[in-house]
Amino acid sequence: MTDASGFLKIKRKEAGNRPLNERICDHSEVEQVLNSEDRMLQASRCMDCGIPFCHWGCPVDNLIPEWNDLLYKGDWKGAYGRLAATNNFPEFTGRICPAPCEHACVLNINQEPVTIRENEVAIIEKAFSEGYVKPEPPENRTGKTVAVIGSGPAGMAAADLLNKTGHTVTLFEKDDKAGGLLRFGIPDFKLSKAVVDRRLNLMMKEGLTIKTGVTIGKDISGKELLEQFDAICITIGASHPRDIIVPGREHNGVHFAMDFLILQNRVNSGQISPAENHINAEGKKVLVIGGGDTGSDCVGTAIRQKAASVTQIEILPKPPITRKDDNPWPYWGKILKTSTSHEEGCERLWNLSTLRFVGDGKITRGAEVEEVAWESSNGKTTFSPVPGTRRIIETDLVLLAMGFVHPVLDGLVSEMELELDQRKNIKVDGKFTTSTHKVFAAGDSITGATLVVNAIASGRKVAKEIDKFLRER
Ligand SMILES: Cc1cc2nc3c(=O)[nH]c(=O)nc-3n(C[C@H](O)[C@H](O)[C@H](O)COP(=O)(O)OP(=O)(O)OC[C@H]3O[C@@H](n4cnc5c(N)ncnc54)[C@H](O)[C@@H]3O)c2cc1C
Ligand code: SF4
Repeated sequence: MTDASGFLKIKRKEAGNRPLNERICDHSEVEQVLNSEDRMLQASRCMDCGIPFCHWGCPVDNLIPEWNDLLYKGDWKGAYGRLAATNNFPEFTGRICPAPCEHACVLNINQEPVTIRENEVAIIEKAFSEGYVKPEPPENRTGKTVAVIGSGPAGMAAADLLNKTGHTVTLFEKDDKAGGLLRFGIPDFKLSKAVVDRRLNLMMKEGLTIKTGVTIGKDISGKELLEQFDAICITIGASHPRDIIVPGREHNGVHFAMDFLILQNRVNSGQISPAENHINAEGKKVLVIGGGDTGSDCVGTAIRQKAASVTQIEILPKPPITRKDDNPWPYWGKILKTSTSHEEGCERLWNLSTLRFVGDGKITRGAEVEEVAWESSNGKTTFSPVPGTRRIIETDLVLLAMGFVHPVLDGLVSEMELELDQRKNIKVDGKFTTSTHKVFAAGDSITGATLVVNAIASGRKVAKEIDKFLRER
């Protein structure tokens, strides 16, 4: 076990972020790297609890106390081995996971939790730099073929495991580059695309075929794929955005968050020039509607584009600073989250509903908002407008970041006549099987929008079910 009294001697120390004035001038990763000595000391804070709640909190079941122990002892290679046993892509989760494990860490009851996420990324980055991560193609091929549709973290995890098991896997992606939201949604300042490319290149060296620029359901029909492959795995994400139906929605200057974020990611990767970025926030008064992570990513991107001002509004009330009584440890703490983007200069407002967009003809000049009051009774929470609180927030660029409702249903899903659940996600049974024989599904496409770590966990589970199915045949 780690140092039994490490948590009494060592305080939590985070790697910290690049200075604010420096980082807002580029799109490079914000988070810094801690030196190896301090990192190992941070691992010593892990108490090796009898019941590791951190492990319970981690959706991919990372063996956190085990790798913290090895890290503390300086066995980086051993720590990598334990980490890779449960997580295909610790370099993604170590950077962008909101770390439910840390919310569940026993130290978090009355102290600061272990820096689990940062330890994770330190282990995998050391493994890459020391050459422990090598292509591991399977020794034998089974002769079975699998098509994975959609190359986000769920598709990547499923394809990775199925390929390593010996099946011949083709990963299809409609975009011109693979990676899903890791590449085109999440900004570079949170996750460098070089990190995504490094993993994809490794997977190709292990024998995975990746075909980009191919929309299944349009360029190739799902039914054709069914004839060509022994099994199909659908991991198309949940990219149908939640819209706001109010007067003025059609104005120029009102855009979905993803349309805005994709363009900046494409500029960063050199796929388009800055001049081709037609939703640029430079000099604009930006209003982000939606207080979640996607909204926060819009804030950071708009600030880097040199917006005149950035305001983020949310209809829900401001979360508390500490846990409420009905939200105890070890559950996810529903508390106020201040991202690095928020720190960079943004006004955040809560309890505001948007009534309409106002403007000159078709150009947006402002958004009329109204305060709402929330009330809970009989287990139901409702809101009502507060009279006399209507006002205009001046804006000439509105970004709608109110989440995603379900997968895109046109094309593949309707062509294959896949059964949907009540929320219009793809319906699967306990074995990740859809209503169509040989067709499996995973990731956001079956749950709705969630987290990278959940998508990886889902991709791992579906791969195991597909492997079982192919072997039984
Ligand atoms: C802006 C933003 C920021 C986020 N930040 C974080 C974060 O910091 N931390 C975190 O944990 N989570 C974050 N998330 C959530 C996370 O990115 C998703 O939960 C995760 O990527 C879902 O993975 P997935 O593989 O199911 O789907 P996706 O990543 O959506 O991948 C689906 C892929 O399928 C492709 N596809 C769709 N239809 C077809 C078709 N017919 N043919 C071929 N290909 C197709 C799509 O082009 C896409 O590449 C964020 C999401 C957004 C939008
Ligand atoms: S994947 Fe997320 S929950 Fe799991 S150990 Fe890493 S940071 Fe924690």
